[in-house]
Amino acid sequence: MILGLDIGGTNTDVVLLKDGYFEVLGTFKTRDFDLSKINVDYDALGVGIAVWFRNGKPVGAPNLERIPSLVTNKPKVVDNDANCFAYYSAYLTKKKNVLSLTIGTGIGTGIVIEGEVYRGDGLAGELGHAFVGGRRKCKCGGCGHLEAYFGGWAIRDIKEKLDKGTIYQTKGFKLFCIAVSNAIMLLNPEVVTFGGRIGGRLKEDLLAEEISKLIPEVFKPEFRVIEDDYAVAKGASLLARDSLQLKNR
Ligand SMILES: [Zn+2]
Repeated sequence: MILGLDIGGTNTDVVLLKDGYFEVLGTFKTRDFDLSKINVDYDALGVGIAVWFRNGKPVGAPNLERIPSLVTNKPKVVDNDANCFAYYSAYLTKKKNVLSLTIGTGIGTGIVIEGEVYRGDGLAGELGHAFVGGRRKCKCGGCGHLEAYFGGWAIRDIKEKLDKGTIYQTKGFKLFCIAVSNAIMLLNPEVVTFGGRIGGRLKEDLLAEEISKLIPEVFKPEFRVIEDDYAVAKGASLLARDSLQLKNR
């Protein structure tokens, strides 16, 4: 049995992977989260967290105020939350080449190539901090980054704009689609997935329509919105299972 966590800026989601099935254990406030109080037996721990890693070491966390203690005597795999989402996307869509975008407080990007998470020199997939023009300040300290125009902290009343459908008319949405289309040209993924508390509620057909306008017709990735608040936690448990070779759990 593998415990999967998704540690976000506000919430921490917890699932248990057991015999190939996921059991949702709940959502906790990150500021109060205490791993030692999760009262289940588990063989390993997988953690997805909004932190940049290089060679397994955290090197930045623009959207996270507190990292809870993850001390455990069990084997543990900790990875960027968008990587976990991409890994879950590959599992769910049964595709080997996947580009994934998570939109919540910030924008995360995960890449799966031939079934494996692609990390580059450690930080691959940070479309949220790609320069899209302008001078708006980003939380990472830069300016003109995509995340400064689109996502939870950049767009006021984003939930309301999602509900009313006006989000699709924002400059931020257009910039987001341009950035995704550029990533598609670079990676030629079979499927592009969208998740996170905002991204998971975008309309698949409107995303597909806007992005398809920007790429040559021969590129025909599938577009999938994955509306599952536990997708990162599930991906983290799968990543722990596969990287620790606990295949039969
Ligand atoms: Zn930035």
